[in-house]
Amino acid sequence: MPISPPQWKHTAESITKTGEAAIKAHEAAFNKIAQIKPEECNFESVLTAMAMANVNFELALNPLDFMQYVSTEESVRDAAVELDKKTSEYSITSAMRTDIFEVLKAAEKNTDVSKLTSEQKRFLEKEISDRRRSGLDLSAEKREELMAKKKEISKLSVDFNRNCNEEKGGIQFTAEELEGVPEDSITGFPKSTDSQGREVHTMSFKTPDYMPVIDNAKRPETRKKALLGYEKKTEQNEPLFEQIMALRQECASILGYENWAAYRLEPKMAKTVATTDEFLSDLRKKVTVLGKEEVDTLMKLKEAESKELGIPFDNSFRHWDMRYLQRLDRQRTLDLDNEVTKQYFPVEHVIKEVLAIYQELLSLKFFKIEGAKLWHEEATQWAVFDADKLEQSQGSEGFLGFMHLDLFPRENKYGHAAVWCLIPGCVVSDGISYPIANMVANLAKPSGGKPALMQHNDVVTFFHELGHAFHGLCSRTQYSRFHGTHVERDFVEAPSQMLENWVFESSVLKRISKHVDTGKELPDDLIEKIIAARDHGQGLFNLRQLFFGTFDMRIHTMKDKPEKISELYEKMREDICLTDGEGTVSPGQTGFAHVIGGYDAGYYGYLWSQVYSADMYATIFEQDPMSKASGKLYREKVLYPGGSRNATETLKDFLGREPNNEAFMRKLFAGAKK
Ligand SMILES: [Zn+2]
Repeated sequence: MPISPPQWKHTAESITKTGEAAIKAHEAAFNKIAQIKPEECNFESVLTAMAMANVNFELALNPLDFMQYVSTEESVRDAAVELDKKTSEYSITSAMRTDIFEVLKAAEKNTDVSKLTSEQKRFLEKEISDRRRSGLDLSAEKREELMAKKKEISKLSVDFNRNCNEEKGGIQFTAEELEGVPEDSITGFPKSTDSQGREVHTMSFKTPDYMPVIDNAKRPETRKKALLGYEKKTEQNEPLFEQIMALRQECASILGYENWAAYRLEPKMAKTVATTDEFLSDLRKKVTVLGKEEVDTLMKLKEAESKELGIPFDNSFRHWDMRYLQRLDRQRTLDLDNEVTKQYFPVEHVIKEVLAIYQELLSLKFFKIEGAKLWHEEATQWAVFDADKLEQSQGSEGFLGFMHLDLFPRENKYGHAAVWCLIPGCVVSDGISYPIANMVANLAKPSGGKPALMQHNDVVTFFHELGHAFHGLCSRTQYSRFHGTHVERDFVEAPSQMLENWVFESSVLKRISKHVDTGKELPDDLIEKIIAARDHGQGLFNLRQLFFGTFDMRIHTMKDKPEKISELYEKMREDICLTDGEGTVSPGQTGFAHVIGGYDAGYYGYLWSQVYSADMYATIFEQDPMSKASGKLYREKVLYPGGSRNATETLKDFLGREPNNEAFMRKLFAGAKK
């Protein structure tokens, strides 16, 4: 290894001290850059200097920031959180410096762009467009107006989200009304007596209460009451939602965009409203065919069930029927018992085999570093190498970076599975930096002398998250802002979503499974069931995704004062989801937190990345998922360049043609035929 493994010996004091010093150093560097005379501004003096200041800032701060998620010491976590707040505040102020924007523009003017590499050119463009998009190009007066509106939006968004989080409503049901709902769910509902003296159970609108009811309640009127109540639970958000939409439109106008969606899409892979509109409507046309077939099946089920329950059959597919009938259909056709499958996935075996698969697929070699000094004794440190280079150089070359795995739950640790690419692999002042990617998860621990087991779903998540780690480890760029997973936001999930396919491949499933008692691999019939479960109900599921995506685009492209959004929501839902609300109008958008924070004009991104991940898998890997040649191609064309070029270019280069939605559609229809 060209560098020694990192050590993790942070204390609360060292975090605060090192962190504050890093912020000061960055500010000093930017102050110096801001003073360069206009005629002396050029790519080297301004952009290279900025890039160096930025990467030093990241190298110092990212490992400290990470401690808030994994440290066992409260003082360390607190210091990291405090530093995180300071860093965020500083970063916002720094990004809004008009003096820096002036030198940047001067540097652009004095630079012969044709002499730059494509990554340098992209760096220059992005550094300038980020600031233009923040309003730095506006007059002081306009900029203030913009800032005031943005503040208003964030205040309203906080209120909106608080209403969602603090919502405490519920509905009272009698035991008869809850017929069909599993007993252990009902026992969790608080009991009381209603105004008519009946004993009632209160279902809250929290998912663990609501889902069992909407999925299982036999009586249509119970499901209707539950769904309408659920969608009304934060109706006080209705005016907030409309105000936020109107303010966003005003911000877009100040910045010179036709609408908020046009503004938000500009830096993404999709780029324009026209592209997302076409993407969504083309997909909708095709998925509707499948959705209608599914509705036919479900309506037959509904008819048979109505007869059985002795209630009139209304021949309508209601909003509140969908999940219920899909569950019935799944039970009838799939018969997949997660408890049985789980016995085939002992944690230790899965980890070992998944790591081996990644090494083979991507031509990598990992070595565990013994005696590493980390934040917890269960965390492990690995040196990652390019297998070919390591072999050719007889062990002296090919080092890529370090990986840390912290996979088991403990108190005060981050509660989900995620990857932090802490250190980018890019150019730094004294050469290059080697990436560090850390994976944190909460896999089951062995207990009572029995090995820990994983659900198949957890195996999928584990495989997916590791995909992000290797995006970081296999990438090399000149600038940290383009390293690894720093790609367009609507592409960032595509590589890992593609990798999920491996965990549905028969040969891979056999390899990563080993029955906890018998040691046998997963039998074919269970494999078929796992695949069938994935493919079940995909038409209606994707129509729902299309509804959210289309609604999101619609509300962010409306000019002037918004229409009555609840009515629009209802109408679009009926049109796209193929379900019917029996004349009701629910303000479902008042709980749609995605479009308030972060996924505004971005919900389409879920489907977008699914479509392109399906294309990548089908075109390059499906024939032979463990092909070394394909793995190398993927490393070279997708992982290596990270965000240093447009994702569209990356895809074209990898696929050898323009990407399309054919593989996605083929998979949907093939899944439905099985
Ligand atoms: Zn992911």
